[in-house]
Amino acid sequence: MGTAGTPQRRAILTGGLAATAALLTACSSKTDTTSTGKAAGAAGTPAPASPAAAARPDSPWAAFARLMDGNKRWVDGKLQHPDRDPKRREFVAEAQDPYGVILSCIDSRVPPELVFDTGLGDLFVMRTGGQVVGPVVVGSVEYGPMTSGTPLIVVLGHQRCGAIKAAYEALRDGKTLPGNLQAISDALRPAYRETVKKKHADPVDAMVRIHIDQTAADLRSNKDLAPLVKKGDLAVVSAYYSLDTGRVEVLTGAPSA
Ligand SMILES: [Zn+2]
Repeated sequence: MGTAGTPQRRAILTGGLAATAALLTACSSKTDTTSTGKAAGAAGTPAPASPAAAARPDSPWAAFARLMDGNKRWVDGKLQHPDRDPKRREFVAEAQDPYGVILSCIDSRVPPELVFDTGLGDLFVMRTGGQVVGPVVVGSVEYGPMTSGTPLIVVLGHQRCGAIKAAYEALRDGKTLPGNLQAISDALRPAYRETVKKKHADPVDAMVRIHIDQTAADLRSNKDLAPLVKKGDLAVVSAYYSLDTGRVEVLTGAPSA
């Protein structure tokens, strides 16, 4: 790309986050999930919306139920692959309105869109080694809930997490991990400290679960998200993914209907 970029690109750059946030906010209106569709409405030409898009979950419970239904299909091998066709691409091209935020590990065996059987425009997804967070990641997690009312955050850890195993062993042995991997180990120190307070048959698995719960608790109580949680507009769920079965086990924070 040249230095000036295209007009659209310049508009995006100069408009920045505020413009995008305004766009997202505009499209998150509760009455905007009707059959005409957001992108179609903006263009003035109604286009058929997929059934999934028309029924976009707007409450923490509805979003949670949608995700868990998708996970059940994944476990049972009955995938529907919703929201993955060209119609859906057109529908969300102008604006997006995901119903969930997933913070998960980079592990190649835990792709959120597959394990929850979702499609285009359904989820904001953040993935880091051991799903550790820092200011940039937390800001990215907060983006949907704070700008467009995304009603659900799921912190998803998983069985046999290599990042957490490596950090556990390094912290236990007082070793430094190579390069920037040490930053992941540093971020996992609070979970390690909590883990070694008790004896566990499988301390790495215990540390995975402790880390998921700590991360979800931190998000739930942070100054930006806590007011949304208190109002019932947002749920922050901690969950554990089994590589063996494909099942997502909810640990804490499941919203009620
Ligand atoms: Zn992992």
